[in-house]
Amino acid sequence: MRKPHVVIIGSGFGGLFAAKALKGADVDVTMIARTTNHLFQPLLYQVATGILSEGEIAPPTREILRGVRNASVQLGLVESIDIAARKVHWRFHDRHHETAYDYLIVAAGTGQSYFGNDHFARYAPGMKTIDDALEIRARIFGAFELAEGEESGSDVSRLLTFAVVGAGPTGVEMAGQIRELASKTLVGEFRRIDPKQARVVLIEGGPRVLPSFGEDLGGVARRSLERHGVEVWTDTIVTDVDSSGLTVKRADGSTERLETVCKVWAAGVAGSPLGAAIAEQAGAEVDRAGRVKVAADLTLPGHPEVFVIGDLAAVDGVPGVAQGAIQGAKYAAKAIRGDAAGQRPAEPFKYFDKGSMATISRFSAVVSAGKLKLTGFLAWAAWLVLHLLYIAGFKQRLSTLLHWFVSFLTRGRSERATTNQQMVGRLALEQLGDGSSSRLMRGTN
Ligand SMILES: Cc1cc2nc3c(=O)[nH]c(=O)nc-3n(C[C@H](O)[C@H](O)[C@H](O)COP(=O)(O)OP(=O)(O)OC[C@H]3O[C@@H](n4cnc5c(N)ncnc54)[C@H](O)[C@@H]3O)c2cc1C
Repeated sequence: MRKPHVVIIGSGFGGLFAAKALKGADVDVTMIARTTNHLFQPLLYQVATGILSEGEIAPPTREILRGVRNASVQLGLVESIDIAARKVHWRFHDRHHETAYDYLIVAAGTGQSYFGNDHFARYAPGMKTIDDALEIRARIFGAFELAEGEESGSDVSRLLTFAVVGAGPTGVEMAGQIRELASKTLVGEFRRIDPKQARVVLIEGGPRVLPSFGEDLGGVARRSLERHGVEVWTDTIVTDVDSSGLTVKRADGSTERLETVCKVWAAGVAGSPLGAAIAEQAGAEVDRAGRVKVAADLTLPGHPEVFVIGDLAAVDGVPGVAQGAIQGAKYAAKAIRGDAAGQRPAEPFKYFDKGSMATISRFSAVVSAGKLKLTGFLAWAAWLVLHLLYIAGFKQRLSTLLHWFVSFLTRGRSERATTNQQMVGRLALEQLGDGSSSRLMRGTN
C-alpha cells in the first residue's frame, strides 16, 4: 500500500526539524527548498563581519538528513500550491514540476520587509540569506579599503560611517560587531585612515533598543553599545535611502540626512508570499506581516492536512524565533504520526518559551528567560554554549569553535576575504529581470 506522502517546503529550522521528527514514521517525506543548505540565521551577522565562514552556518541539508531514510531532498523554488488538488508546483531554473501530497508542511519563513520601499534593498541589504551576509561583508570591508585611497575628507567620513537600521537582536549584533572591527580588529592595518574614527549609527523607529527584551535589558544593551562607541538613534524613522546616504525623521518631525555608504537593513519581516496564497485559497487571514493565522493545531483553517509552521505562522504568544519553528515542527510531525496510527493527538500547540538572547560585543550579551535576566560575561557565555549546541553538524561545530577562539582571544577574524561577485551580484541579478533563473537565485518567488 502507498504510504502517505508528506511534502515539506523549506529547509530552515521548521522544515529541517519536521523532517527529522518524521524519521522512521510510516510516511514518505519530500523536502523542497530553494537552497541546498540549512541556514543558521542567528549567526549570519558573524559571516557578515568576518568571524565565520558561510559553510559553518549553512551545512548541506542532504548531509544532515542522510540518516532519515524515508526523506528525500529536492532543490527547487515552490511557485504555487493548489490546496484543493493537493499539489505543489515548483521549478528548478527552467524545469517545472508538480508534486502531490497527502500532508503539507509549509515552513517557508519570512523575508526582509522594507515597509513598502523595496528599492531601499539595493542600497541597504537585509540580513536573511548567505548572499546578504556576504554582500554586507564585502560592503563593510570595502568601505575601509575605499576610504584608505580617498583624498577628500568628506568622502572618507561618508565611507567610514556605517548605518544599521533596526535595533532588534540582529541590528544590535551588527552594530556592535562593526564597532569592534573598527576599534580592535583593523587597528594598525591602514596607513592613511584611522579605522577607530569610524562612526557606527544604530537607527530604531521605536523608543527602545531590543524592544522584546523589556525596558531594563534594553537599557543595559543601549548603554553598553554607547560605551563601545555606537551612536544609538531611537524614535527615528528612515524615510529615504540612496547610494550615498539616508534620510531620517525624528519623533519631533525634524529630518536629518546621514552621509553613509554602507547601510544594513535589519528592520521588519514579510511572510513568504506562499502564505498569503494558501490563506486566500482557504479563506484564512494573514496578519500585517503576511503571516498565516493558523488554527490552534497549526493547520490552515479547514485543511487539517496543511500545517503552517515557524516564522510564516501567526500564533499568539509565539515569537519569530528558532524555538517557535522547532517546536511547531515537532508538533506537526507528531500529528502526522498520530494520523498514521489512527488517532491524531487532540491537544493544541503549546509554545514553551526558552527565552531570548543577543550579543552586544565580545564578552557582553543580554539574556532574558522568564524571570531570569543575565547581562555581561555570564550572558555571553550562555549565548556561546547555546548557539554552539544548535549549530547543525559536528564538523560545523568544531570549526565554529576554532574560529571563535581566533576572534575572541586574538580579536582577529579569519573570514575577511571578499569578492567582486559579492559586491555586484545583486545588481547583476536585477539586470536579469524576472527571467527564468534570476528569481530562483535571488530567492524571491
Ligand atoms: C539575522 C537573523 C538573526 C536571528 N537571530 C535569532 C536568534 O538569535 N535566536 C532565535 O531564536 N532566532 C533568531 N532568528 C530567527 C530564526 O532564525 C527564525 O525564527 C527561524 O529561522 C524560523 O525558521 P523557519 O523554518 O520558519 O524559517 P527559515 O529558517 O527562514 O526557513 C525558511 C526556508 O524556506 C525556504 N523557502 C522559502 N520560500 C521558498 C520557496 N518558495 N520555495 C522553496 N523554499 C523556500 C528558505 O530557503 C528556507 O530554507 C534570527 C533571524 C535572522 C534573520
